[in-house]
Amino acid sequence: MFEKSINAYEDAKKVIPGGVDSPVRAFNSVGGTPPFIARGEGAYLIDIDGNKYLDFIQSWGPLIFGHCDKDIEEAVIRTVMDGLSFGAPSVLETELAREIVEMYDNLDKVRFVSSGTEATMSAIRLARGVTGKNDILKFEGCYHGHSDSLLVQAGSGMATFGTPSSPGVPADLTKHTLLCEYNNIENLKKCFEQSSDIACIIIEPIAGNMGFIPADIEFLKACREICDENNTLLIYDEVMTGFRTSLKGTSGIVEPQADIITFGKVIGAGMPVGAFASNKEIMAHLSPDGAVYQAGTLSGNPVAMAAGLTSLRKLKANPAIYDDLNAKAVRLTTGLKEVANKYNIPFQVNTRGSMFGFFFCDIDPKNFKEVGTCNFDRFATFHHGMLKRGFYFACSQYEAGFISTVMTNEDIDACIKAADEIMKDM
Ligand code: PMP
Repeated sequence: MFEKSINAYEDAKKVIPGGVDSPVRAFNSVGGTPPFIARGEGAYLIDIDGNKYLDFIQSWGPLIFGHCDKDIEEAVIRTVMDGLSFGAPSVLETELAREIVEMYDNLDKVRFVSSGTEATMSAIRLARGVTGKNDILKFEGCYHGHSDSLLVQAGSGMATFGTPSSPGVPADLTKHTLLCEYNNIENLKKCFEQSSDIACIIIEPIAGNMGFIPADIEFLKACREICDENNTLLIYDEVMTGFRTSLKGTSGIVEPQADIITFGKVIGAGMPVGAFASNKEIMAHLSPDGAVYQAGTLSGNPVAMAAGLTSLRKLKANPAIYDDLNAKAVRLTTGLKEVANKYNIPFQVNTRGSMFGFFFCDIDPKNFKEVGTCNFDRFATFHHGMLKRGFYFACSQYEAGFISTVMTNEDIDACIKAADEIMKDM
């Protein structure tokens, strides 16, 4: 069933490290061969062997309207006909920026970049430039892209300065990164006792990179308070959750608001885009208005702007989409949970808007360490069983899932039925 993908994978490995351009695609945590994708079609992916899968990844978030949405495709094609890139301003950038800031009370200006990694890296530089401080605080299990100072792992204990989690990152570069446990207020306070030089807290307010774990509201409030007390900026990394969990991302769901928000793939609807946004006082520090340097040849690429603009306008025109998406996410996770219960399999589920997650776990994990107690063998069995039956879930228990508007209740019910076949033999 996967012959062509197996050959394509072997071939790719000859010229691309590990055969992939982003490690998670290699299926390392569940084993086996990743299907090579030929095309998308609405809610489905079709691989080069002709297998068809209901796609719960949606390019890791961006495709809220599924694959090949006609409106987005038309906007992209129209824009392409006028040229691919100018390296000069275009009004599409202003239009997309305006759509974003109009949605938020606390955002005045947006700077576009080309990836989530760039968005968070630049947001941190801005926070350091504004506050004149050097340290940053991140949480264990939150992923903010692969820039040097964000690739850290825990030192000897929690609430410590991190050590590099990858060769190639000098310890000198991560010594300014404090690492703290997610959802742990005591730990957070300890970090601020250790350093009076913290420029920003960066957090996934709804984490999607250690599985799907929304932060406790009390924890986000504590982040907001401690930032206010210490002249530290709060950055919500909404690269994945922006326009996914609600029309205003996490900011539309929780009361504590951030000073800077980073966006990514979702605002590009499948084209390479990222952005960071804040109020006009903070953004005034950014070049060319201010001294904090940041730039990008392809930033604000017109084709990407056109795709994002069309997607955002469709969402704004029909905010009820989010209720529908969440209803489907709840239908899926409730159904999976019922199946797991039937076979006495410890299983935890969660949703926010169009995002969902599940863990094969006795407890409902609240942080990275607790995710480590999940059953990874069961996850791998589930993943491969579902893939063979035509359901494409993220290939790691450390990832989230996504619903698209083109998925039907029938699709979801078929998925639950397939899950029953697998779980009954677990
Ligand atoms: N922040 C978050 C929350 C992310 O989920 C990701 C990517 N999954 C990034 C940053 C990095 O984005 P990119 O892969 O576009 O560089």
